[in-house]
Amino acid sequence: MSDSFLRLVPYDPHWHPDAPAAAAALKIVSDLFPLAEHVAVEYEEGVMFFDAGANTESVHCPFCGSDLEDWWGGAMDRAAASRFEDLSVTTPCCHKASSLNDLRYVWPAAFGVCALTVVNPGVASLASEQLRTIEQAMGAPLKAIWQHL
Ligand SMILES: [Zn+2]
Repeated sequence: MSDSFLRLVPYDPHWHPDAPAAAAALKIVSDLFPLAEHVAVEYEEGVMFFDAGANTESVHCPFCGSDLEDWWGGAMDRAAASRFEDLSVTTPCCHKASSLNDLRYVWPAAFGVCALTVVNPGVASLASEQLRTIEQAMGAPLKAIWQHL
């Protein structure tokens, strides 16, 4: 049986909740996903890239919509050299300032120092009102990333 993961990553790649907010968000997620195998807030030592596992390289310019697939790998390598502390990029197509975190990923992806992870949530989607409830507890807007491994 394949595993699936739902990761909720704050929009701000350097932001993480304090302990009471993380505990409140965990409580809500545990109630929303009673069938989940495991629920936890995971803190990373530095900024990590959370992706959908497949097709992540499908990435487009947020300004003009150009396909950035060929350029993105090199940009990721350069950012990885700074351990993703610096995510700023200039888009190769229309030469605008952006962030690797703000590119248009066809499959949602996010950079962050923490993620609220649900292992085998038992459902395949998250309603927007459910996401809002979790965001309110956590205290920050979150990106929902589904990984099917
Ligand atoms: Zn562009």
